[in-house]
Amino acid sequence: MYIFDAHVDTLAILAETGVCDLGTLAGAHVTLPKMQRAGIGAQIFAICVPRKYVPGMALHIALKMVDIFWRNMDRYSAQLKPALSKKDFQLQVQGQQPIRCLLSIEGGEPLAGSLANLRILFRLGVRAMTLTWNHRNALGDGVAEGERASGLTEFGYEVVAEMNRLGMIVDVSHLAEPSFWEVLEVSRKPVIASHSNAYALCGHRRNLTDQQIRAIADRGGVIGVNFCPRFVVENPNNCTIEQVVDHIIYLYQTGGSDAVALGSDFDGIASTPTGLEDVEKIPSLIPALEKRGLSTAVIEKIMGLNLLRVAGETLPEESS
Ligand SMILES: [Zn+2]
Repeated sequence: MYIFDAHVDTLAILAETGVCDLGTLAGAHVTLPKMQRAGIGAQIFAICVPRKYVPGMALHIALKMVDIFWRNMDRYSAQLKPALSKKDFQLQVQGQQPIRCLLSIEGGEPLAGSLANLRILFRLGVRAMTLTWNHRNALGDGVAEGERASGLTEFGYEVVAEMNRLGMIVDVSHLAEPSFWEVLEVSRKPVIASHSNAYALCGHRRNLTDQQIRAIADRGGVIGVNFCPRFVVENPNNCTIEQVVDHIIYLYQTGGSDAVALGSDFDGIASTPTGLEDVEKIPSLIPALEKRGLSTAVIEKIMGLNLLRVAGETLPEESS
């Protein structure tokens, strides 16, 4: 079955440890051998710049991670290929190899307030961006601003329009509600919440209300289910794959079969649910979803085809 995961933070581990090599990386949730054993079809790799570098060094560190991404594409060119355009995904569902890797930025700090930097990062292969992390930045407010949160800045509006024009996927995970609603109002393309869960099942600020879930679904977008135990259950010490499945089922019932995807957050989370310890365990979701009565057609959409559809509707036709 075609598997396409919307969010991992493995590039930050590669950069911070200095290992830089997905093939020999040890101890991470995501490595090349593990992805191959899991039969991953495509993966979004986020450039998440550690807080200690933000904002001053954000672009510098992001470029370092762009370099690590491309060095891995070159080193493992038979196994990994960049996902830059709609064309790159054609015929992939049948064959699955090589694994398509889509480069994303988590938090707009590396733009350093400049649309020119956005366009340069697009040229370097970046095809998606989470507009903010938890905190306010030059684009708008993240969830950590709480009651004080306002929406997008003027620059944030310009960034969304330019991302639509270029063919980049707009990611609304981590946004404060006012920013979220403004993005949904102005984006001309479907948006994704790459790694967020249902607030109704776990009342964490990072999760989405039913209204937000329906709004993403109504506009043709997807929500990637996050495996982070704190976003899955109130007591994260007792978190299992079954409770992740609860979120998938809830998102499916609330947003419909076209709106659910996977957004593991692997290598960005300190602990994992029992039964979903690393990327190799992702296929375990298939029998778990079958057990809940979902049809194969719906499971295929959730495991990868929905995210593939959004990529097809958003990315440029061909790489320039
Ligand atoms: Zn995140």
